[in-house]
Amino acid sequence: MGDLEIANLTKRFSVDSETALVAVDDLSISIEDGEFLVLVGPSGCGKSTTLRCIAGLESATEGTILLDGTDITHQRSRNRDIAMVFQNYALYPHMSSRKNIGFGLKMGTDLSNDKINERIEQTAAMMGIEQLLEKKPGELSGGQQQRVALGRAIVRDPELFLMDEPLSNLDAKLRTQMRTELQNLQSDLDVTTIYVTHDQTEAMTMGDRIAVLNDGELQQVGTPLECYHLPANRFVAGFIGSPSMNFFDVTTDRDARMLVSDEFGYSLNAATMETIANGTEVLTLGIRPEDIRVAASDDENVLTVKVDVVEPLGDQSFVYFTVGGQTYTASIDGEEYIREGTEIDVVFPQNRIHLFDRQTGEAIKNREPPEAAQAEAAEFQGSSSFAVGQSTD
Ligand code: ATP
Repeated sequence: MGDLEIANLTKRFSVDSETALVAVDDLSISIEDGEFLVLVGPSGCGKSTTLRCIAGLESATEGTILLDGTDITHQRSRNRDIAMVFQNYALYPHMSSRKNIGFGLKMGTDLSNDKINERIEQTAAMMGIEQLLEKKPGELSGGQQQRVALGRAIVRDPELFLMDEPLSNLDAKLRTQMRTELQNLQSDLDVTTIYVTHDQTEAMTMGDRIAVLNDGELQQVGTPLECYHLPANRFVAGFIGSPSMNFFDVTTDRDARMLVSDEFGYSLNAATMETIANGTEVLTLGIRPEDIRVAASDDENVLTVKVDVVEPLGDQSFVYFTVGGQTYTASIDGEEYIREGTEIDVVFPQNRIHLFDRQTGEAIKNREPPEAAQAEAAEFQGSSSFAVGQSTD
């Protein structure tokens, strides 16, 4: 078992005698046994501090952390059954890989040397690093060092793995390969894992669920497709996805039949009107690049835009266009020929648009969720995103 319950965790650092910096603000998350949870957010949002509080390397200012039902909030770090992997590997330079991997077992357990060596060799075989066991970190590549660092965590057979940007020192190709390896390894070992990254692609591809943080506050916890298609707010909508969602400032007209911006009007269907009836009038319209279509002759809500740049990628092209002095991105089927400098007609299909309260950022209407997102979320009952306005055409 390795389920983790974080309740109302707050961490304040004192800046001087009068001011404090709130690095983690009233964070509550439940993580299931065996789950791979990715903590993601921009630099400085409190990811590492959260992880360090769980590991016992920082003391929580408020809140509780329960591992398997036991309150570990104030337990000493070395008494927690947790192994942590860092970005900079943190290997002892004067020790061989064998000694690095076995160090925790030697210091923290009363296993015999033979038993320790057996465990080291089993772990090395699992990580494919048997031939590196007698080498020191200085003789290893970045990828090999990270495998040794992972081996050192795995050999302890902990209840919980904490990983703080473990792949960010590797080059792009190796990072992609190690991502898959790590996922397979985690799923084989079935150990609850919290993985920190600022890279939303890593979060989308690796996590069973992702927890998005901003300014120390939890924005949303959900499966990757839930966060992508049903963002809880504008921050999550803009942070998850590359290229990012496009945003337009709009207001509703007097009887809420249209969205109006300085550049265009957008007629609403009955379902969307109902979603925003009696609600806020100051909104942000969001649409993902891949949801923008080139207009057909019978389309409503057509917007004529000037194409600034086209980036052909083969299967799709990124088309950059300007509306009201701002640049937006559409991802258009690569077979459509679109020329830079021309004007094209585009539409934002109504079942694909998102609407956010411009003041609070909260999602008022999300796009119609695709089947894949619903199926993925069904595995985690209790995720609330599906309650957020799903209108249909
Ligand atoms: P990054 O992705 O850049 O590592 P992060 O999301 O992991 O960022 P943290 O390292 O958790 O962010 O930092 C959160 C906030 O707490 C930041 O504003 C940081 O400056 C501050 N902070 C972190 N550690 C300390 C400390 N020991 N003393 C004072 N402030 C700190």
